[in-house]
Amino acid sequence: AETILSVQQLKKHFHLGKDRVLKAVDGVSFDIKKGETFGIVGESGCGKSTAGRTIIGLYDRTAGDVLYDGKNIHEMNEKEKFQFHRKMQMIFQDPYASLNPRSTVQEIISEPMEVQGLYQNKKERLERVYQLLEDVGLNRDHANRYPHEFSGGQRQRIGIARALSLDPEFIIADEPISALDVSVQAQVVNLLKDLQKKKGLTYLFIAHDLSMVKHISDRIGVMYLGHLVELTSSENLYQKPLHPYTQALLSAIPIPDPDVEDRRERIILNGELPSPVNPPSGCVFRTRCPHAMEVCATQAPVWQEVDDKHFVACHLYNEDLQDGKNGKQAAA
Ligand code: SF4
Ligand code: MG
Repeated sequence: AETILSVQQLKKHFHLGKDRVLKAVDGVSFDIKKGETFGIVGESGCGKSTAGRTIIGLYDRTAGDVLYDGKNIHEMNEKEKFQFHRKMQMIFQDPYASLNPRSTVQEIISEPMEVQGLYQNKKERLERVYQLLEDVGLNRDHANRYPHEFSGGQRQRIGIARALSLDPEFIIADEPISALDVSVQAQVVNLLKDLQKKKGLTYLFIAHDLSMVKHISDRIGVMYLGHLVELTSSENLYQKPLHPYTQALLSAIPIPDPDVEDRRERIILNGELPSPVNPPSGCVFRTRCPHAMEVCATQAPVWQEVDDKHFVACHLYNEDLQDGKNGKQAAA
């Protein structure tokens, strides 16, 4: 499939005043193909939401490029931006905070269409709202109610209906199920999968929990402190995680899987996530890495393809470095 989104060396830094810079996203690159689900996973504070918001243009970027269908979204004129809004939409983590409590469901879902001047005929627009409600598993009786009258899962369905109202091609889902009860999480994930099939959607699915993102994603990028540290297919990531951080994340998933041999032991990471205002030198993961070496403090590992379409940034897979070590050993 063709590439629909290309993120190239994207950086988003926030200036917090005098010499203090929060490097929320610090040089992230990946491509997403049309129709696929690309997951970004990492603990809170790793920059994944900021990446999503910068990709959709809610934030301007500090450096790098975001190309959608070959067009740089941060260099679009007003007209192009307006058209781009129809193509890419976002679903947020907290469906309650993102829905205006004083608006009816009908108004909430209609608003993007109003802004875009679509379905200007009142009757047609109402029919469209009813259809969208059905698409997300609600019904027309819900149209005149208010967000507080719904459960968390239903509110997320309303958020999804709103995101779908412009018939987008691409949806960024920023932790769409994290705030929901475990019992309804799978329902919302299944709904998103069904909608993807029916409407040919492409997803960027942001999550902190690898167990859920694994089921929905074709490929996954693992983020740590503003950097991508590993990227490969979900299957590969699960069967053969290379980066020590990914290995730790996976070891925390308690689901027994008979297909996976060699049950991993739980890897407990040292310490806390460092501040992105003051990240460690060299490899940003080194303060918590069980395999940290001397070089990790001085050199940032390069992003490299170590297996077919399996990318990782870690000195453990740097052949030059390993050769160097072996050379030294041989000499000694
Ligand atoms: Fe650990 Fe070094 Fe690899 Fe970073 S580069 S993940 S510190 S081994
Ligand atoms: Mg977030």
